[in-house]
Amino acid sequence: MLFGNIYKKILLKKVFLYVCCLINKNMVNEHYEKYKDTIKKCARRHYRKRIVLLNEYLADKSCKHCGESETVCLKFYPHDSEIRKKTKRVGTSNESRKEIFELMDDSYILCSNCWIKLDNDLIEFV
Ligand SMILES: [Zn+2]
Repeated sequence: MLFGNIYKKILLKKVFLYVCCLINKNMVNEHYEKYKDTIKKCARRHYRKRIVLLNEYLADKSCKHCGESETVCLKFYPHDSEIRKKTKRVGTSNESRKEIFELMDDSYILCSNCWIKLDNDLIEFV
């Protein structure tokens, strides 16, 4: 009897959660469809705001190997993905940026081509 009750409760809970999940999913989808453009625009704006930090930092930098200075081509070696991941995640306060700056200081600035070359040991830095 007792076990039956527990079993029933668990089952009900599972059904309840499933229904909740379903409703939530539909609502999120509906919400998403309705505000798709706004959400996308907003996400893009936030994203830009955060990557401005990187672009500002890279604005007057150039590739250490070949001298390429086009900001969109520049990457950090070897911490590029970590820096970009952190930049997207952290807030824009100086405290949360500190970690990023430390990683930046610890990296070379390279253009994408040289980055790949260095990563494949095709070029070398002394
Ligand atoms: Zn280069």
